[in-house]
Amino acid sequence: MKTILITGSNKGIGYETAKQLMRLGHRVILSGRDESKIRLAAASLEKEGGEIQLLEMDVSVPEGIQSAADLLRGRQLKLDVLINNAGIVHKSDRDLSKDSEDVLQTTLTTNSLGPLRVVRTMLPLMAPGSRIINISSGGGSMTDPVGGWSPAYCVSKSLLNAITRHLAYELEDRKISVNAVSPGWVKTDMGGKSAPRSVERGAETLVWMATTKSIPTGMFFRDKKVIPW
Ligand code: NAP
Repeated sequence: MKTILITGSNKGIGYETAKQLMRLGHRVILSGRDESKIRLAAASLEKEGGEIQLLEMDVSVPEGIQSAADLLRGRQLKLDVLINNAGIVHKSDRDLSKDSEDVLQTTLTTNSLGPLRVVRTMLPLMAPGSRIINISSGGGSMTDPVGGWSPAYCVSKSLLNAITRHLAYELEDRKISVNAVSPGWVKTDMGGKSAPRSVERGAETLVWMATTKSIPTGMFFRDKKVIPW
């Protein structure tokens, strides 16, 4: 049984990943910024098998991340896998040259600095052989054409990709792998109804990365295959 922390897992891809991992018999730490939402989500996962723990953690609040890590330490938990899934897209994120300061701040704090802070704070709970999986996006790619949608979001995912590469380099000696995953365009509150992928499909590569025997480090994945940054 692996112990797997998934940030922002009260709904969407994070919730579905939690469900699939529980069905495989793992201990999932279901986490979110709103305690009542995590409790509701956990109640609907009770019969899935495995084990569930709840953790209130807003990834945009550094002190909150520290308290969450202290709580896990108090429960004597070690993390085998950390999935940085929590993310936002602002409705008014339309134009990088005009977006408000608030859009820039909240997007970068939640999607880029948040995952980095979660890694820095949770690292003492991670032993050699453990894995960090950062949920990125095709929008963060530096090789695909620039798409003209939610530019602050796309920049935040490019930054998350850069963070992934640097952390992979720094943590290689400690045998902790760090990779980024693009889940594709997925039907969730964020992806919307027109998205071609089911949430089950969106979670597939994450479940595989969390559980497969061995994975490389410092790579960008989609559909279980390495893709260009
Ligand atoms: P979603 O349904 O909107 O779920 C996002 C989750 O993140 C929710 O649980 C949300 O909590 C949580 N969250 C947001 N800000 C948070 C914070 N500050 N602290 C803790 N949790 C926070 O979105 P999704 O589609 O499942 O997206 C999951 C990940 O996949 C994101 O990183 C997203 O960028 C990425 N992604 C999604 C798609 C897509 O097409 N859906 C494509 C590429 C990448 P609340 O319920 O409290 O808001």
